[in-house]
Amino acid sequence: MFGGNYQDWLYRALTILVISCPCALVISVPLGYFGGIGGASRYGILIKGANYLEALTDLRTVVFDKTGTLTEGVFQVVEICPAKGYTQKEILEIAARAEAHSPHPIAKSIRKKYGKDLKDGDLTGLLSYEEVSGQGIRTIFNGRTVLVGKAGLLEQAGVSLPRLTVDKGLGTVVYISVDGDYVGQLTISDRVKADSRAAIAGLKQMGVQTVMLTGDNQVVAKAVAEELDLNEYHADLMPEDKVSWLETLSQAKRQGKVAFVGDGLNDAPVLTRADVGIAMGGLGSDAAIEAADIVIMEDQPSKLLEAIHIARYTKKIIWQNIGLALGVKLLVILLAIFGLANMWVAIFADEGVALLAIMNAMRVRWYNSPRNSLPEASLVQTVIVVAR
Ligand code: ADP
Ligand code: MG
Repeated sequence: MFGGNYQDWLYRALTILVISCPCALVISVPLGYFGGIGGASRYGILIKGANYLEALTDLRTVVFDKTGTLTEGVFQVVEICPAKGYTQKEILEIAARAEAHSPHPIAKSIRKKYGKDLKDGDLTGLLSYEEVSGQGIRTIFNGRTVLVGKAGLLEQAGVSLPRLTVDKGLGTVVYISVDGDYVGQLTISDRVKADSRAAIAGLKQMGVQTVMLTGDNQVVAKAVAEELDLNEYHADLMPEDKVSWLETLSQAKRQGKVAFVGDGLNDAPVLTRADVGIAMGGLGSDAAIEAADIVIMEDQPSKLLEAIHIARYTKKIIWQNIGLALGVKLLVILLAIFGLANMWVAIFADEGVALLAIMNAMRVRWYNSPRNSLPEASLVQTVIVVAR
């Protein structure tokens, strides 16, 4: 069988050379990832690189920010409690002027409750403005220092606050002080997104741990964590505390990747630090969208489930392609060694398998979620693309 003349062996050598060309292998892996990224974009999920798609397949823990991520972030002022000597209208005006420039959802709700447009004229007395990340606002207005924010911000400045005994449930309390004196407080309520429940339940089903890190107080954090049945939560955190918690979680769960999902207000550093930083594109700040590795366009945390499904599907197809390419090539090389494969078979093992691998990789592009949440518009778009 190993006989034959010089010409036979030259032919076999050339046949093996054609078979061993790694076209299918080289093409199908990146193409699979491109397909995955393209498929995800149909669901409004922007993935900034194949490495993040890969990381999603190995997710052990997902850490969520609370405000604007798990909750709607559309706050409503539900209670205005002025201190003695002040009226509701007065403290709302003080707070609205101090919050005039803040993009935080809390600030927006205070301005909305105030109702009137804050014109430049209303703000002429504003001498200084400082947004204390994850805490509140410090301003000097008409020569008086105004603080608006969480209890810690005011207490640090030496303001004594009335002890609260009432359970405020989901309400976040915003305290207001003028020149070191407590002048009142606003209770602002937020709602848990209906979609957050689906996201947390889905992640748990996949065996992924869910954790919430929030700058808000214990009471609110506990209410949200219980409502969503989260595995773990940590409240009253400064932005830097969120980073150290994330590092603790990454170290503890070394066997898998840790993702952080946030809206980027006060949490851009954590987004950068996580293995996979995921930002909400609708509510999220530009800084967050820039810092994130994955952007979810419609602010739905459950889109993360689709992203994970697509990532797993992509990986499956890539392995299928690798198996197909190596399997067919090995088989045909063996046949060629024994003189049983001609050049046409070799060309099939090279170009043919490459084409098959490309077609297989294209399947990711048309991935259909088991949750079937593809937006109508994308379906129409898909049909048009196919028709072309
Ligand atoms: P989360 O971590 O839940 O997303 P943030 O870090 O954005 O929350 O804010 C944490 C807390 O800081 C808020 O619950 C609020 O009490 C206070 N805070 C932050 N920004 C402001 C602001 N602009 N005005 C008033 N309070 C604020
Ligand atoms: Mg936030």
